[in-house]
Amino acid sequence: MVICGGSRTSHDALYLCLAPLRRAVDGSIVLFGPPGAGKGTQAARISLLTGKPQVSTGDMLRAAVAADTELGREAKSYMEAGLLVPDEVIIGLISERLKKPDAESGLLLDGYPRTIVQAESLDKIESVAAVVSIEVPDDAIVRRIVGRRMDPETGQIYHIDFNPPPEEIANRVVQRKDDNEETVRSRLSAYHEQTAPLANWYGERGVLLRIDGNKGIEVVGDSIESALLEMSG
Ligand code: AMP
Repeated sequence: MVICGGSRTSHDALYLCLAPLRRAVDGSIVLFGPPGAGKGTQAARISLLTGKPQVSTGDMLRAAVAADTELGREAKSYMEAGLLVPDEVIIGLISERLKKPDAESGLLLDGYPRTIVQAESLDKIESVAAVVSIEVPDDAIVRRIVGRRMDPETGQIYHIDFNPPPEEIANRVVQRKDDNEETVRSRLSAYHEQTAPLANWYGERGVLLRIDGNKGIEVVGDSIESALLEMSG
């Protein structure tokens, strides 16, 4: 089995590895899983492998909140309560994003769709080639999210126990406002009630790839890569 994109892959080997996936994965790839499953962490590697730009609806919404736009003001209270932003708001955002030239060969969608209504609406405007479902139990999610920190200067994500920031960065890392335990539990409820049923929806369409996400970052990345390579034949 050829494993590409891991930290040990040489530049030349990586180039060879990329070719089949860049050709074969026609359409968008959806990264699916509970909050804190590692979708954002794995996205960089999958984006490199497939050539598809990563689009995170959570990041788009946080940017809108920070810029205090109309969209941001509408989304803020939902996000801080750990609830999903209404479908019509988020569907408009993604429809616009899919019109940009770099979306022509598909996007790597991180955090979208999150409801059946969103999936049905996406289905009308974009072909979904694969749905990578990263599966992690709830208790592990809570530990991961509550310890998560971000370096505001680079966007790099750390974890106070599993991947602590270096000393010179430790005093500037910040915690996302919705990364406290109470909000995480609400986000997990929203996930189980509204988002998890999507796994069956995509399973019935034959594009679901189930990945055990309760492992180290490299191991999970290798599993995703193997599953995508196998799917693309
Ligand atoms: P994330 O960074 O993906 O965990 O998203 C953070 C928050 O943004 C979520 O808890 C929701 O409030 C909101 N959000 C992000 N993506 C969506 C979506 N596809 N549908 C509804 N709300 C979303």
